Amino acid sequence: MANMYQALVDEFMTKIKTRNPGEKEFHQAVHEVVESLIPFIEENPHYKHAKILERMSEPERVILFRVPWMDDKGEIQINKGYRIEMNSSIGPYKGGLRFHPTVNLGILKFLAFEQVLKNSLTTLPMGGGKGGSDFDPKGKSDNEVMRFCQSFMTELCKHIGPNTDVPAGDIGVGGREIGFMFGQYKRIRNEFTGVLTGKGLEWGGSLIRPEATGYGATYFAEEMLKTRKMDFNGKLVAISGSGNVAPYATEKVTQLGGKVITLSDSEGSIYDPKGIDKEKLEWVLWLKNVKRGRIKEYVEKWGGEFWPGERPWKVKCDVALPCATQNEIDENDARILVKNGCFCVSEGANMPSTPEAVEVFINAKILYGPGKAANAGGVATSGLEMTQNSMRLSWTREQVDKELHTIMINIHKTCEKYGTEKDGFINYVKGANIGGFVKVADAMIAQGLV
Ligand code: NDP
Repeated sequence: MANMYQALVDEFMTKIKTRNPGEKEFHQAVHEVVESLIPFIEENPHYKHAKILERMSEPERVILFRVPWMDDKGEIQINKGYRIEMNSSIGPYKGGLRFHPTVNLGILKFLAFEQVLKNSLTTLPMGGGKGGSDFDPKGKSDNEVMRFCQSFMTELCKHIGPNTDVPAGDIGVGGREIGFMFGQYKRIRNEFTGVLTGKGLEWGGSLIRPEATGYGATYFAEEMLKTRKMDFNGKLVAISGSGNVAPYATEKVTQLGGKVITLSDSEGSIYDPKGIDKEKLEWVLWLKNVKRGRIKEYVEKWGGEFWPGERPWKVKCDVALPCATQNEIDENDARILVKNGCFCVSEGANMPSTPEAVEVFINAKILYGPGKAANAGGVATSGLEMTQNSMRLSWTREQVDKELHTIMINIHKTCEKYGTEKDGFINYVKGANIGGFVKVADAMIAQGLV
């Protein structure tokens, strides 16, 4: 990057760090975006004069609240509750709720900031938000999770609504948690509306929503592979995570002819050189969603290796789909992946690669799809769930999957449009950041000083 741009990026980041002290994940997310956007903004100075970047990096509203609940022993527990309403210029705030002990303001602001650009890329009318709690559903009984969710929603319901803010799931929030929160919202507000997405099929949910993020990240990888006249057939694929996203990425990769050889959770990774086929995957879904067990149990049942405390990236693979959490691929992991021949990384998780890892991928000119483009299928299908709720209709599986696939193809085209460099290399980071930014920025300018 030219020195002039670097100085502008540094100046911008100094202000961000001063205004948002200690929020390192938020700084990281803003920095990545600002690096690609500053040159574009310098060439389009009306965005600069309107201070769009400064406005976009300040949430429209931050809601912080206490969540008291009672555990099974009758003891009172207190957690923190958050909702970041980041940007509503192109639609109601939309983005997931994360329940994990690491949740804090900085992490949720990074996620909300990314969400604004991601939602814009889907072409659907959705603003950006994110929320959650430092509550850990792991090891809690169903009744404890229910009491927590009810308490959380008792406060959150004052701030959300189908035309205002529509949360969904994220880490630690799946169908069970969405159900408990939806029930409480309905009870307090006395209305049956599409206020949350990721709902059960019997009560307003959309087919394909659970699969959408994993399927979408795979469709995006497929589009990237096509630019080099390749496909998934016969490819070795490393996947991390084993929650809402990873199993469905595994399913789609397998359907497209690839062989998935790893999965992981916070205790370590499993390696199955024979591949995680349909039967094994069904068992993983049962393990995670019914038994609520740990991924290491896979090895006892199906063989292979368990690597305690390790991420899967040392494995030799062609394609990597990180689907667990932020900063799970560091510089060293990225170097090992590239050295072992990995030529495509499609991020199911949000910001799973550190800035140094991203640099390794871009310098090696491999196909690298950042989360805000590659995992947008989840929120896109949430958008389709909102549409079905408004129409009071349910679309078929085929219909939703076709829409999702088309959206992912179009996101890829947008990245190609804004990210293709002079030598033909597609810089998907740049493409996704500029592609997502333009629509939001134009809407903000049209709506005056908001
Ligand atoms: P889940 O909670 O269902 O699964 C997360 C998986 O990652 C689990 O296997 C979990 O292991 C593991 N994990 C979580 N935190 C860590 C950590 N600090 N270190 C190592 N492993 C960890 O979440 P989702 O599958 O919903 O989300 C995964 C990623 O995808 C997140 O980055 C999320 O923001 C992103 N995403 C999710 C969408 C969705 O539709 N759900 C949409 C778009 C993005 P363990 O069980 O041991 O904690």
